[in-house]
Amino acid sequence: MSTIQTEITPAQITVRNPASQEVIGSVLNFSGEEVAAAVAQARAAQARWAATPVSARLKVLRRFRELLSEQKDAVAATITREAGKPQAEALSTEVLVALDGTNYLLDNTAAFLRPEPVPHSNLIMKLKRGMLCREAYGVVGIISPWNYPFSLPTVQTLTALGMGNAVVLKPSEFTPFSSLELQRLLREAGLDPELLQVVTGEAATGAALLQSPIDKLVFTGSVATGKRVAQAAAARLLPVVLELGGKDPMIVLKDADVNVASSAAVWGAFMNAGQTCLSVERCYVHESIYEDFLKACAVKTGKLRVGLGHDPTTDVGPMIHERQLQTVVRHVAEALNHGARLVCGGTTLPHLGPNFFAPTILADVDHSMAVMREETFGPVLPVRSFKSEDEAVALANDSEFGLAASIFTRDRGRGQAVARRVQAGTVMVNDVVSCFGISEAPHGGVKSSGIGRTHGRFGLEEMVWPKYVDSDRLPGMKKLWWYGYGEDFRQQMSGFIDFLFGKNLIKRMRGAKVSTQSYSRRKPF
Ligand code: NAD
Repeated sequence: MSTIQTEITPAQITVRNPASQEVIGSVLNFSGEEVAAAVAQARAAQARWAATPVSARLKVLRRFRELLSEQKDAVAATITREAGKPQAEALSTEVLVALDGTNYLLDNTAAFLRPEPVPHSNLIMKLKRGMLCREAYGVVGIISPWNYPFSLPTVQTLTALGMGNAVVLKPSEFTPFSSLELQRLLREAGLDPELLQVVTGEAATGAALLQSPIDKLVFTGSVATGKRVAQAAAARLLPVVLELGGKDPMIVLKDADVNVASSAAVWGAFMNAGQTCLSVERCYVHESIYEDFLKACAVKTGKLRVGLGHDPTTDVGPMIHERQLQTVVRHVAEALNHGARLVCGGTTLPHLGPNFFAPTILADVDHSMAVMREETFGPVLPVRSFKSEDEAVALANDSEFGLAASIFTRDRGRGQAVARRVQAGTVMVNDVVSCFGISEAPHGGVKSSGIGRTHGRFGLEEMVWPKYVDSDRLPGMKKLWWYGYGEDFRQQMSGFIDFLFGKNLIKRMRGAKVSTQSYSRRKPF
């Protein structure tokens, strides 16, 4: 059976269900000129949108929330059809995250955009009133991957729109219909169609968006593409957010509850068939509970049902395409050849379809293996033991990635202390992956996992540029530091610095006197 999921012509992309290879439909393959036209349309509509009162903008988001919650099952079905994930996950990790993200915007946008006073501590600057305003960028480009085809672009798009931007969204060529659902729902909610342009297409369409006159780009995808995007953006000084890959470590400390930690590891490694940027991709377990932990994970993995996403009994769906499957096959084979122990799984499941891989646990892995160094992005849980907390932290930090991490322990304080030592954008104590569903929590990584944040307050900040507005309270007064230089001015400044920063009261009082006297001697300019 052919495992090619998309057929791409200059005009059209055929999209297939990753589980069955059934054709779902086809979408336009936007050319560079069409992308440029979409950006121009978005720009033409943006100024009006930015001038619209925030309350009117939020009305659209509120209506969107109603429509999405009413149509959640249909949207989840679309996601499952093109991404393969179980419908339970389409609801919990896509629709629910999008709805909660919308709530967050409804609750926080107005206050966030209200001009913020900036008090001045410098005495002479107290005559001025400072204000921090947040301005929409204009047209924000968004490029999305296939693994969370709805929640990722929805939260990013709504944040950009809420701040007063227009959006041109390029979804993954493997999962364009989820973004088209987003577009449909927003239009039904009353959004001017020009404000959200969905430009379906493959890499060339994304590259064209990057070359078009957008004002900011939010890119989510692999490190390899992220580096290409960063280079192209640097050439034109385009500000970018890069949400890239991960190789998230899970540390199971000596005092952890093995039952809880093993359930977390199995879910964290296998949900969405391991195709989550925040998946548990490396697991380090204290040597005293190592074998018990492996046994518990094996028993729980044995209960998982692999199958089609639309079957409600399915726990693990297919991988997105053959290329991704082959990475998993390569990582597992290489680890086994270099001495890893196969606890369970380890094979493709061709009787289910071309892109299925059995949930796999590998024990006794080490950091020379690709499965511990590169993003596997499949249903594989590689586990190794450690002797001390220091060793566990060193292993967790021995990675080019730094997206998220998790610590399991019965002692929350200890977990938080270890969390501070791990190099990652997010560290969860006694949970995995779920921080993506907390709309207030900034999402993003360090090291090769990216630059910038989406979600939460930091996510709002990415969609605006700060403008400092300064107004002098005494418009009729010439400023002390303007021209009229000379010895008197020098003495005035010297005295003033002593007045502000002199090491004791006498020095400061003298400074004040010198400064006032020299000021009174200055000639008008
Ligand atoms: P990818 O990098 O192959 O593609 C991502 C998007 O970029 C797609 O829409 C693609 O068409 C587009 N693209 C490809 N080449 C491009 C180019 N030269 N210029 C502009 N756009 C281009 O990634 P993928 O396989 O779709 O997604 C999986 C990756 O995404 C994994 O590495 C995963 O960890 C990462 N990811 C990260 C996060 C996060 O929040 N950090 C979330 C989800 C996925």
